Amino acid sequence: MEQHDKPKSGKGPRLRFETLAIHAGQQSDPNNGAVMTPVYFSSTFEQDAPAQPRQGYEYSRTSNPTRTALQDNLAALEGGRWGLAFGSGLAATNALCDRLRPGDHVVAMNDTYGGTYRLFMRVFRHYGVEFSFVDATDTGAVERAFKTNTRYLFLESPTNPLLSVCDIAKLAALAKKRGVLTIVDNTFATPYLQRPLELGADVVLHSLTKYIGGHSDVVAGALIGNDEELRKDLAFYQNAVGGQLGPMDAFLVLRGVKTLPLRMDRHCANAQRIAQALTQHPLVEKVFYPGLTTHPQHELAARQMKAFGGMVSFELHGGIPAANAFATTTELFTLAESLGGVESLVEVPASMTHASIPAEERKKAGLSDGLVRLSVGVEHVDDLLADVQQAIERSAVPAKLAAR
Ligand SMILES: *Cc1c(COP(=O)(O)O)cnc(C)c1O
Repeated sequence: MEQHDKPKSGKGPRLRFETLAIHAGQQSDPNNGAVMTPVYFSSTFEQDAPAQPRQGYEYSRTSNPTRTALQDNLAALEGGRWGLAFGSGLAATNALCDRLRPGDHVVAMNDTYGGTYRLFMRVFRHYGVEFSFVDATDTGAVERAFKTNTRYLFLESPTNPLLSVCDIAKLAALAKKRGVLTIVDNTFATPYLQRPLELGADVVLHSLTKYIGGHSDVVAGALIGNDEELRKDLAFYQNAVGGQLGPMDAFLVLRGVKTLPLRMDRHCANAQRIAQALTQHPLVEKVFYPGLTTHPQHELAARQMKAFGGMVSFELHGGIPAANAFATTTELFTLAESLGGVESLVEVPASMTHASIPAEERKKAGLSDGLVRLSVGVEHVDDLLADVQQAIERSAVPAKLAAR
């Protein structure tokens, strides 16, 4: 075996996460030694004879070497056998839904990403797929929602934006008994903090746009799993529908993923400090962060995750006006949708990322219109704390006034 063919992951001594993030799926270019994976801007590949592609590549909708490098990297990080990269997180969710047929049923958690809800209810429901939304922190509620035609259990943990945590191992075991596939949207945790496949899930879903890309400069998504039949099925839809990731975007995600562990350590440390400061502030009504001992699933999160992530949500005294004022008063936290980049962002989910969920459904899930969501970046924590402090003081309404 040539030097460049030596697998850097896979068999042999198991490499640690930080090492895999940099090396898995990567090799120096066999032609010229380029250390970084080249961006293969080629839609098509020369064949040696009809239907005999030289290295398995024919046409870039089907497969592309830059995309392969990313897919192999992500598979290694999630502890899976395969990965498939898509043009967005929703394109990845769409590929999963493409496998469903009229009359099939999906159990999803009620506090799911707004775009996922929209894809289910405004696209696939019209094709005859049935969806039930349940509080997945309640294992019994999930069990009761299963029907004979249930194909998928669709989980997210921690959830967006309420940071609820569900017991992936327990729920995946329940689903398995009924032949239901468990899918976990692992966007918030990333494989650095949580590996759902090791907990019994069948497929991990990512919006790579967020922490894995990490620099707010690319939209991308992925599915990762172990079962080869399932991979073939999903790769069929990826190719047949055409929602695959382009080579430049695959390169950007690959560049980002190498520093994922470094960034996540800082995101988690900063978020923990900010969550704690918020709980101590008299103008703050409620704080949602799984790293707080007061969080209803704190112990489960501590067991299931390596750390608690970089997302913090909270409610101010003064409801919607206070939330809107806060979101426009921060100086370092930019008012914008999305999350997981190095820079801190703030948003009001009910009127922004989650506006596609009907008001009554939001209310049922406990998502108040005055909830503020922070994506805590990797800046110096003291600067972030000072910014949050000044914005609260200039926006929240003291409880006594709010009650009038
Ligand atoms: C952003 C997001 C998605 C959708 O991903 P896109 O890349 O925006 O299509 C799915 N799930 C979660 C949790 C997200 O935050």
